[in-house]
Amino acid sequence: MNSYSLFRRSRLRLALWYAGVMGVILSVSGLGMYRAMVQTNWAAMEREIESIAGTLHDSVEPLLPPSEEPTAVLQQIFPDLCLSGQPCKATPTLIQRHTIGISDRTTYYIRLFNHQGKLLAFSPNQPLSLPPTLNRTSWQTFRTANGIRYHQFTTILHSANTHTLANEANADSSWGYLQIGRTLEHFDAEIRRIQWIMAIGLPITLSLVTISSWWLSGLAMQPIYQSYQQQQQFTANAAHELRSPLASLLATVEAILRIQQSNQQDIQMMLHTVERQGRRLSHLIADLLLLTSLEQNSGAKPFQPCCLNDLVSDLTEEFLEMATAADINLTCQIPTCEIYALGNESQLYRLVSNLIANAIQYTPRGGYVTVSLVKSDYTAVLAVKDTGIGIELAEQKRIFDRFYRVDGDAYGGLRLRSRKTGGTGLGLAIAVAIAQKHQANLRVESQAGIGSIFTLEVKIVLV
Ligand code: ADP
Repeated sequence: MNSYSLFRRSRLRLALWYAGVMGVILSVSGLGMYRAMVQTNWAAMEREIESIAGTLHDSVEPLLPPSEEPTAVLQQIFPDLCLSGQPCKATPTLIQRHTIGISDRTTYYIRLFNHQGKLLAFSPNQPLSLPPTLNRTSWQTFRTANGIRYHQFTTILHSANTHTLANEANADSSWGYLQIGRTLEHFDAEIRRIQWIMAIGLPITLSLVTISSWWLSGLAMQPIYQSYQQQQQFTANAAHELRSPLASLLATVEAILRIQQSNQQDIQMMLHTVERQGRRLSHLIADLLLLTSLEQNSGAKPFQPCCLNDLVSDLTEEFLEMATAADINLTCQIPTCEIYALGNESQLYRLVSNLIANAIQYTPRGGYVTVSLVKSDYTAVLAVKDTGIGIELAEQKRIFDRFYRVDGDAYGGLRLRSRKTGGTGLGLAIAVAIAQKHQANLRVESQAGIGSIFTLEVKIVLV
């Protein structure tokens, strides 16, 4: 499987997981909100029924007659109710009176039962299929034959007389029961509306989530894909860099094997070439390993205060011989006060030595290289300045890339080391990696034909 399809599959999986998780979260929270909405509406409706029942109960109870067969008296109290067993023509004005201002007038119905559960009176808008017998359960929900749901509340009625009797005999002697109910037509319609909204809204939301998760996973995969490509490029470059010295090393060895044993002088010369190529290979491999270990942060020693003054003077001294051989004037400018930075000493030495070596290598004979150290409030600035060939602006961004070397032709022969004969192209990449590890800033300012300044800005510590 090639890397593109691998990343595409990973992106798809990431998007699907993301959409799945988001879908579950959205569905669960949508369902939770739906349940909460239904329950709140239901509780509000029950409170309304209870409050109407309470109002009716309180206003009717003192007027209730003690009689066993109270239909005549009931007709006086509730002139608009239909009496059981008699023709009913009244309009539901009583229920209107009690519920006015509370709710829809046609929504509610009431029924009155005696203490044996026999229906005495009822409002004309009661559901037709309601049985004339009493169900004593406080709350009931039922569905009539035409599919409309009703919710009703039943409460006990005591007349003034039965209260006294009950107290005396301490017995359960209710006058009867008041039943108040309402249609759930509007409630059910509202619930259906919410269900429709959810049924349409949820798939639309999930589709949007799926599209955005595909886009987001693409964004998330992008840096990984880029880094993977860089890694692949790095491997290809490394293989390419290793191949050339290895090929010439093998060719030299083959030539040695073919040469006459007596021709010691030629053999010696070729062995020197083999050694040089071997060293170059070994340098390259060491640089690659160092870069990898810097990236992985493996085997790193804990940071310690390092004296930057010592570092600059030691390295200047070390490179003096090389500079003299190249006819270059190498000097250093170090302040009298000691400046310390927290870091890995050998890595900091490696960083600065790469800069000085480059400055010497890319400066023509008779040129100058100056290494200076300056302290500001919280940082120290270590600069390596040369009067060398300089670097074009376009190249300045790329010289820190791995294996990047400026082409000699770009400078019309000014460049001292060409792509073919030059270094590994890893020196500045290593320097940047070390600087990053030390939270330091490595910059270059350069002008082609005039020279370059590489500055390292690093935080200082007080010792
Ligand atoms: P190399 O092993 O080729 O020196 P580096 O990573 O150290 O690799 O440098 C990358 C490239 O940057 C070099 O090939 C060179 O072209 C350019 N360069 C680095 N330092 C200087 C400098 N002081 N002056 C001019 N060019 C430089």
